[in-house]
Amino acid sequence: MSFVDTFNQLPLERLVHDSLQTTPAQARATIDKNDLELADFARLISPVAGSKLEAISRRARAITQQRFGKVIRLFAPLYVSNECINNCTYCGFSRDNPILRVTLSPDEVVREGQALAAQGFRNLLLVAGEHPRFISEGYLAECVTALHRFIPGIALEVGPMDTAEYAPLARAGAEGLVVYQETYDRPVYSEMHTAGPKKDFDWRMTTPERAYAGGFRRIGIGALLGLGDWRWEALSLAAHARWLLRHCWKAQLTLSLPRLRPCAGEFDPPVKVTDPELVQLTCALRLFLPDVGIVLSTREPAQLRNGLIGLGITHMSAGSHTEPGGYTGAGRENLHRTERGRIVQDTTHASQWATGQFDIADERTPAEVARQIERADHEPVWKDWDAALTA
Ligand code: SF4
Repeated sequence: MSFVDTFNQLPLERLVHDSLQTTPAQARATIDKNDLELADFARLISPVAGSKLEAISRRARAITQQRFGKVIRLFAPLYVSNECINNCTYCGFSRDNPILRVTLSPDEVVREGQALAAQGFRNLLLVAGEHPRFISEGYLAECVTALHRFIPGIALEVGPMDTAEYAPLARAGAEGLVVYQETYDRPVYSEMHTAGPKKDFDWRMTTPERAYAGGFRRIGIGALLGLGDWRWEALSLAAHARWLLRHCWKAQLTLSLPRLRPCAGEFDPPVKVTDPELVQLTCALRLFLPDVGIVLSTREPAQLRNGLIGLGITHMSAGSHTEPGGYTGAGRENLHRTERGRIVQDTTHASQWATGQFDIADERTPAEVARQIERADHEPVWKDWDAALTA
């Protein structure tokens, strides 16, 4: 049995409706309740509960401190390739976008990793588009093996694979796999994913289960806010997380709720999620799922990130670049355009950088972010994983 079976039976329409109809008394009672059901979570993300943000955030803060202490784990994304065979209307790497592309060699990936290690990072997220010609599991395993010599915590955010392909990557030293469903609304998903293997909604949804079976011990899931009704996305994500906690129970689970940012292709998100709604959602997730990690990326502006420290967030990225070679300039001499899977050489780009996936909102350095975490009476943690822990 996979989560798809459970998902197909979720009464999401009714839950969204109930959420919108929540009364003040129901919201108040739910905030103080323990062991919440999905229907309770729907009440916590209701418009009425939004007017009780102080009470929800107080509870979220207490639960976060009790379960995680006053720490924030820092990580950085390391983009190894921006090649992609998919068309996702909201993403700068979409195959039809005529952007400058590159796939870093394993040596170049190591250079980037060393630059991040020099800034203090010991947790990296390797990110790549989906393109079997440029980004095979063999290539990724080589990158992981090389990085693992000096980076203890490595996670991957790459095109979905089957279990047999994941196993060598886990053995090479990658302990985490991150895959966002993007949107849990099937019609919206079809509209947003117009070409490539990513069109297969169910294949993507079962990726965390395959990753777990392949040996990954940290699983990250998420929904991209801005594509569909955010309450629908939040309810689906919460249900997905709870299912994974029950069925992939040896893994640590993290959730992400990235809001869409400007990118190549100039996609205009059909749904706006306000700052107070994002705060409410983060706190509601903490109340519903006290033990999952919650990730906040540099897509969000510095002021909002500062305010969310202590309110459910456990992981933050910092100093991020979303273009391959963004930390050292690695790969610039190999920039090209890709047409129908073929490299089109064009030397006029020698002085340029590869195109990033999206714009960053928090441009502070990792050291500045770490100082801010300390000012908020929390400890920034650069290394929280070592293979010896599971040896
Ligand atoms: S979201 Fe991922 S799969 Fe879609 S175009 Fe961007 S990199 Fe490719």
